[in-house]
Amino acid sequence: MSPINISIVGVGKIVRDQHLPSIAKNADYKLIAAASRHGVVDGIDNFKSIEEMLAAVPAIDAVSLCMPPQFRYAAARTALEAGKHVFLEKPPGATLSEVADLQSLADSRGLSLFASWHSRYAPGVEAAKAFLASAKINDVKVIWKEDVRHWHPNQDWIWAAGGLGVFDPGINALSIVTHILPNPVFITSATLEFPENRDAPIAASINFTDANKLPVSAEFDWRQTGHQSWDIVAETEAGLMVLAEGGAKLSIDGKLVHDEPEQEYP
Ligand code: NAP
Repeated sequence: MSPINISIVGVGKIVRDQHLPSIAKNADYKLIAAASRHGVVDGIDNFKSIEEMLAAVPAIDAVSLCMPPQFRYAAARTALEAGKHVFLEKPPGATLSEVADLQSLADSRGLSLFASWHSRYAPGVEAAKAFLASAKINDVKVIWKEDVRHWHPNQDWIWAAGGLGVFDPGINALSIVTHILPNPVFITSATLEFPENRDAPIAASINFTDANKLPVSAEFDWRQTGHQSWDIVAETEAGLMVLAEGGAKLSIDGKLVHDEPEQEYP
């Protein structure tokens, strides 16, 4: 089978760190074009806008949208209306209803709309899900604390409305939690902290529960220096489960049971 001709829109940090090396190693895909106002990818055709790119390169099968979430909806509509399959970086949009609208547009055209959650592909996630399916869970705590100055330098969009603030990393935790817990969870209370000059939160404390009244809490904080915490801890009747390092390492009662190299994007 010939490879899928893919293009990228929004050439920034995640494209350079993950998308380019992952696509280069996968023979099922061929990167043939990119669109970005400033960023360029060496060795392929580059354009300033998605419209220009789609008009100039009809061979594109699929478009990977890697710009900030506030600008994803318009680009996704443009790509779907041009008959292209679409990959959405996480979070898939700035609001739920715009993503639902894209879903119905993709369905009506028979196109794929892949709303990706890379953290769900972290190495320990499936083993954690299997463990939690086999054990009575008493309590779940999510601790997602990182240094915004280190991970998001010069990203003004992340502090603007729709940029999600500390939920930009926090949503990675929630994408895992909603995948590994046996029942859907819903929020019962939350406290969000906003810097005075910003439109998005720098920290959040959230409580959730599920149909069986399982207590689930999450602490997101962007002011963490030193050790960075990306942990999901579940107290169960079969032992204490710790899914650490963003889903990379799984231990039960202090014993490491799953530790594989990270391969989320591939
Ligand atoms: P980024 O470095 O700021 O890059 C995004 C690129 O999008 C920018 O370089 C910019 O390139 C382009 N862009 C298009 N319209 C824009 C606009 N109106 N304002 C600002 N930039 C615009 O951000 P990123 O870290 O790659 O993150 C992009 C998306 O990937 C986010 O949704 C983020 O949550 C997700 N993500 C990031 C990471 C990570 O570790 N960084 C991990 C997983 C997922 P031009 O100026 O050339 O147009």
